Amino acid sequence: MKNRVHTDGTKTRPMRALRRLELAVAGVRGVVRFNAPLKEYTSFHIGGPADVLVEPADEEDVVRLAKQTHEQKLPVFVLGGTNVLVRDKGIRGVVVSLAKLRAIKEEPGSILYAEGGVGMPTLIGHAIRRSLAGLEWAAGIPGTVAGCVVMNAGTRLGEMKDSVKAVRIVSPKGERIACPAEAIEFRYRRAILPPGVVVGVWLQLRPGVRSDIEKVVKDYLHYRRETQPLALPSAGCVFKNPPNDSAGRVVEAAGLKGTSVGDAHVSTKHANFIVNQGHASATDVLALIRKVRDRIAQETGIKLELELKVVGEA
Ligand SMILES: Cc1cc2nc3c(=O)[nH]c(=O)nc-3n(C[C@H](O)[C@H](O)[C@H](O)COP(=O)(O)OP(=O)(O)OC[C@H]3O[C@@H](n4cnc5c(N)ncnc54)[C@H](O)[C@@H]3O)c2cc1C
Repeated sequence: MKNRVHTDGTKTRPMRALRRLELAVAGVRGVVRFNAPLKEYTSFHIGGPADVLVEPADEEDVVRLAKQTHEQKLPVFVLGGTNVLVRDKGIRGVVVSLAKLRAIKEEPGSILYAEGGVGMPTLIGHAIRRSLAGLEWAAGIPGTVAGCVVMNAGTRLGEMKDSVKAVRIVSPKGERIACPAEAIEFRYRRAILPPGVVVGVWLQLRPGVRSDIEKVVKDYLHYRRETQPLALPSAGCVFKNPPNDSAGRVVEAAGLKGTSVGDAHVSTKHANFIVNQGHASATDVLALIRKVRDRIAQETGIKLELELKVVGEA
């Protein structure tokens, strides 16, 4: 089988595989990048290339892409980028970013409909301007609204399941599905949804007083700045909290703050954050995670589970 040789001289995937990728993205109106370095798309600034990265222009484009990737039997991964560690060899198949699906619409009854790529900070800003309360708990979460549903993102003030009324999904075959919150099983930092791309979320908010909403948001952002290492690239919390405890407390108590592998470093400000101090690779981060987990298991018997999603090829 013929191989395609890239300009850097490396032998890459066979021609037939490349042809399938091309057919999958044919006619897509948004941005299409082959061999796209995913470190540019993640808050960790880490990650190898996607075979192809697509930013669909709109929902119609997502439908087209879904149908064509399904026809070509290619895997699809949706990337918001703030809770993932992409391994160093990157992701095979099609990676979808909803960066262009950013519309927010208001519906009667204090409901906001946000397209999947709307960032939580933008959404909270919109809610504040419209004096709509109910999203203050999410102040400081950098992910997309869709990623926050899939992860059931949360803070000590609340979690996504408290705000979601329904979601709109484009299924792997390209069908549009509206899924009410009652049909979603929300668990600790994950939600069980029908498969597909979450392209929009209806949020049930309530009328509030703008200055009150703004105060809660500002106070919480201040608290986060004081307690989290926001000046360096990271992917938020690495481990889920063990029952009746906090992962940060457990890691700190084991004396692991400041432990490093290469440029991957357990933050000295918040022990449940690993920060990238410059050129950390995914291999460095994974080695550091292993070190922390092994020490905690040895010393306390606690088996820390990952909150971070690790994806792609090593
Ligand atoms: C500084 C910092 C602070 C953070 N603080 C918090 C916090 O307080 N609480 C918290 O819960 N999280 C926090 N996070 C983590 C992160 O922002 C959340 O987990 C968020 O929900 C991830 O959203 P995302 O869009 O980046 O999705 P990603 O992290 O890219 O993806 C997460 C999962 O969702 C899937 N996914 C994403 N979008 C879609 C979609 N449109 N359709 C289908 N599947 C999709 C992905 O495939 C992946 O499996 C923090 C992260 C950082 C960097």
